[in-house]
Amino acid sequence: MKALISRLEAAAARPELMGEMMDRLGLDPQALVEEGRVLDLALAARRCAGCTAEEPCKSFLAATERAEHAPGFCANALFFETVREG
Ligand code: SF4
Repeated sequence: MKALISRLEAAAARPELMGEMMDRLGLDPQALVEEGRVLDLALAARRCAGCTAEEPCKSFLAATERAEHAPGFCANALFFETVREG
């Protein structure tokens, strides 16, 4: 039970990590909503919730103010590239 609660807590933190990652990349989630890409955003949030790279993600975010690209371990790296390219 303790392990399950711990996993649920970790998954709950993922939207925050995704928001922080988008911030480092200079991407605006609200702009995606306004472009009607809510489904894309929801799918990205789902990928983020299932991502197994939480610790590397936190380390990257702690060490990075701005980045051109998401790190290779990010489950949403390709998605973020498509957003950047418009
Ligand atoms: S590395 Fe994983 S947890 Fe971090 S933003 Fe990318 S998908 Fe989400």
